[in-house]
Amino acid sequence: MRKALSLFALSLFCLLHLQAKNTLIASPDKNLKVNISLNTAGEIKYNVFYKEKAILEDSPLGMVTSVSDFSKNLKLIDTKESVIDKHYSQNRIKQTEVHYLANEVILNYETPKKEKMSLVMRVSNNDIALKYTLAQNGETARCIIQKEMTGFKFPDFTTTFLTPQATPMIGWKQTKPSYEEEYIPDEALGTPSKYGVGYTFPGLFHVGDNGWALVSETGVSSLYCASKLSEGTKDGLYTVAFPEAGENNGMGMANPAIALPGETPWRTITVADNLKPIVETTIPFDVVEPLYKPSTDYKFGRSTWSWIMWQDHSLNYDDQVAYINLAADLGYEYVLIDGLWDKQIGRERMPSLFKYAQSKGVDVFLWYNSNGYWNDAPQGAKQCMHTSVARKAEMKWLKEHGIKGIKVDFFGGDKQETMKLYEDILSDANDYGIMVIFHGCTLPRGWERMYPNFVGSEAVLASENLIFSQDANDAEAYNATLHPFIRNSVASMEFGPVLLNKRHNRTNDGGQIRKTTDIFQLATAVLFQSPVQMFAIAPNNLTDCDNLVIDFMKNVPTTWNETVLIDGYPGKYVVLARRHQDKWYVAAINAEKNAKKITINLPMFNNTSKLQMYSDKKDRSPQLETKSLNKKGELTIEIQSEGAVIITN
Ligand code: CA
Repeated sequence: MRKALSLFALSLFCLLHLQAKNTLIASPDKNLKVNISLNTAGEIKYNVFYKEKAILEDSPLGMVTSVSDFSKNLKLIDTKESVIDKHYSQNRIKQTEVHYLANEVILNYETPKKEKMSLVMRVSNNDIALKYTLAQNGETARCIIQKEMTGFKFPDFTTTFLTPQATPMIGWKQTKPSYEEEYIPDEALGTPSKYGVGYTFPGLFHVGDNGWALVSETGVSSLYCASKLSEGTKDGLYTVAFPEAGENNGMGMANPAIALPGETPWRTITVADNLKPIVETTIPFDVVEPLYKPSTDYKFGRSTWSWIMWQDHSLNYDDQVAYINLAADLGYEYVLIDGLWDKQIGRERMPSLFKYAQSKGVDVFLWYNSNGYWNDAPQGAKQCMHTSVARKAEMKWLKEHGIKGIKVDFFGGDKQETMKLYEDILSDANDYGIMVIFHGCTLPRGWERMYPNFVGSEAVLASENLIFSQDANDAEAYNATLHPFIRNSVASMEFGPVLLNKRHNRTNDGGQIRKTTDIFQLATAVLFQSPVQMFAIAPNNLTDCDNLVIDFMKNVPTTWNETVLIDGYPGKYVVLARRHQDKWYVAAINAEKNAKKITINLPMFNNTSKLQMYSDKKDRSPQLETKSLNKKGELTIEIQSEGAVIITN
């Protein structure tokens, strides 16, 4: 059966040698085509077409290493074709069952000195994944990658949706880059970035009427640095770039080093003529494998955390009891005890707090500062996660007290040295049955699949900014419409959503003013995907919010079997459907100035006569109505400005 399927797939495999030096590889449905060539200088180039329309013009491939120069004078020796047909289950991403079907070609190149490098190119219906493998040529087994040529040259009418990489060692307590910068929509190609050091993955490109491309990378472990996109040239070329030398307080190499034979992470491009495949892609997980087995059956769920609304002062015993009680009242699985617990509660009193939480059926996530020598962030607990010796002692203590997860904050950048720290924390934590959330951190690159106890990363201008600045509140709806298409498309996003206070302070009467509606806040619980969600709900919300709001928050899940984009445009509005078991949640939000009336097709509800629809009344207060689809399976909804509609069965 398997063989028959492969033969069938092979028959679909469109690999043509147009001429001696050109290799064309097409997706199984033949819509996506990648043409790889060598020019007269022996440089590898590739271009990408979707439904015969240009997505990438001739763009560079190859690399320069400390051992060999694979950027020019290359000769194509041979190619090897195969079909990758893989089914896998994943319990913490946008869908649980994934079928990855791709055509693969491995192109083997040689330098004039007979040194060998291979380009591995995989093309599935909407995704390209490419990486390089390097042979050991001679006795030199150590290799520094000096420059990767891989680039993405877009047609000149393309516009970009990018977020800048920050200059190292700037910002609060020298904690940048912390991957908390703003996206700029629809910018012209080659516009200089805010800091001049390129862009953080992923980058979204709108190639006019030709389509869309989401560029990212995956499979980054301790064996490489995390990369970024360079500044763009005026003619639209963006290349893979390595971290800045100043990251991690200047310590550690900016360039990655590998042992030979070795390989690079995957560079990925999701391509389509509409936004659905951009939102629904699973490519970050399709091409990686688990690096170790889970030591226990990790359970995901909902959490409360006092720090978001009550801030630093709330890291005291009594306030933590209040948030444990809130978690218990809501039926949540977890409470997050945030930074400063070591000083303001004291390590010796923590076990009795843990015991209290456990007596209420609430498990604990505990916060740590990652820092050794890479920033000045003062919050503790410090120096518990930066070395193997300290980590193992701390994790033994956590395990003895039944702690289920840690949130580790304030990382030093994207150098290989820091990637090693992320991996070491994850690997050690798994030995003690502990889940890990990262904050003040880089984009996770395939980590949900690679590391079984990895839960989520911030790497976004998260909910804390709604507490810190009114601007963030004014732009809240706008930012929320970007994430499903960009940041949250490639990895779980630990945003800490659902702020139900009207004013963002402890007494709900001062501080920043929330512009969005209660239903909008509920919608973010569905829109923002992370398998453990730290919801920003506060104890007063149990009495000052409408019952329908609290009931929704008691029942909303954090894991999803399926994710479907129904409608939307980044920066304007989004209608996204997610299924948890047999219950669908369709969340629609609107960032535009006027209410938006749209008719949407909802085939998932075809057999449901009564739908629950949450929406905003004209006075922006929440309401819950019963609705049904028309004969065509459609529903017309009106989404208020900075408001939302949620439909469930
Ligand atoms: Ca942060």
